Amino acid sequence: MTLEQVIEKIRSIGQANPENLMARHFDEEYFRGLDEPARARLEEVIRTGIENADSQMGAYAMNPDDYDLFAPMLDPMIRDFHAIPETHEIAQKHDWNTGAYPSDLGSIDARLKDVSMRVRVARNLGSFPLPGAMSKEQRVALEDLAAQAFTKLSEDPSFGGKYLSITPGSDNEIDTEEYDRRVKAHQMFKDMSGDRYLNVAGISAHWPHGRGMYVSEDEDFLVWVGEEDHLRIMAMQQGGNLNALFERLRTGLGRLQELLPDFATSPRYGNVTSCPTNLGAGMRASLHMKLPVLTGNGSDLSQLKREATALGLAVRGAGGEHSDAGTDGLVDISPSARLGVTEMEIMRRLYDGAAALWAMESSGNMPGE
Ligand code: ADP
Ligand code: MG
Repeated sequence: MTLEQVIEKIRSIGQANPENLMARHFDEEYFRGLDEPARARLEEVIRTGIENADSQMGAYAMNPDDYDLFAPMLDPMIRDFHAIPETHEIAQKHDWNTGAYPSDLGSIDARLKDVSMRVRVARNLGSFPLPGAMSKEQRVALEDLAAQAFTKLSEDPSFGGKYLSITPGSDNEIDTEEYDRRVKAHQMFKDMSGDRYLNVAGISAHWPHGRGMYVSEDEDFLVWVGEEDHLRIMAMQQGGNLNALFERLRTGLGRLQELLPDFATSPRYGNVTSCPTNLGAGMRASLHMKLPVLTGNGSDLSQLKREATALGLAVRGAGGEHSDAGTDGLVDISPSARLGVTEMEIMRRLYDGAAALWAMESSGNMPGE
């Protein structure tokens, strides 16, 4: 596409798809003013939003310094998604101190002890390009580095476990059956080669090389290798105790950090991630909740999404992003903002949001009725 064609396409997306943040905040003057190599680089970053008009963000960084280099274009999109007003600096503070906040979902309603809890952080190694720009060799080298760290991690009795690779011919390779079973169990990530957003950005390239997952013995601490970020580190538990879940992630992440080279971070953007939605804490804390009333038995998420948005929460289907709700109304809810908000604040928003949605669900009325 010529420069004029690109600009014309983004303009028309901006009109037809106002939710596409890249198109919404596209700065034509700035784009035209870049020299050609810089503009080509930025075009790679926003290609996913140009090819996929229905994108929410519409950009994936290819290298950690894209965020600094293209701040005039990306910052307004980042502010919009993470709800950071113009009057505030973009900055990331961290707080992992489980202080005095209510964290037991069972104290909202005993039935909430049955919900499945998950909290993950995205991390990338500063020594590699981000996944959209990696060669096949780099993906495999990164996996080798991670596998070495996992060998050491598995010596720790509280995090002992095994690494499961889907790289063809690799030492730790698992078969298709086990891979499918782990995906169904919500542990392993889905086949990325079928994801058009990731495909356009190059993030799913060379699938399934360099991909795998570490899983602890008790299956509540997991690390993805080679998905949308180099690493996705997570805890998954039931029982309703959000603090216990959070602590599990905090200690496991601490151990991994000792075993791997430096994670890419920035004073402004915190943890640097492929997708601008994950910057900052890089943390998504989610609950799998059954909300049959609010979702019309899973048939319509639009009302729930409106209520959730007002609470700062995002709604996904039970199979993860871009999936549908279950017929029992099973959905995934999580605080949207990850940048400019601390880790503890994210957990608090999840707790408060879950309490508010549960009150609506239990009152038995559709919102707005
Ligand atoms: P993320 O982008 O945060 O890694 P995805 O939406 O891609 O999350 O989902 C990844 C997997 O995690 C999916 O199988 C999804 O169903 C599962 N998942 C997310 N939250 C929970 C939860 N609270 N309990 C169980 N599984 C979950
Ligand atoms: Mg995802």
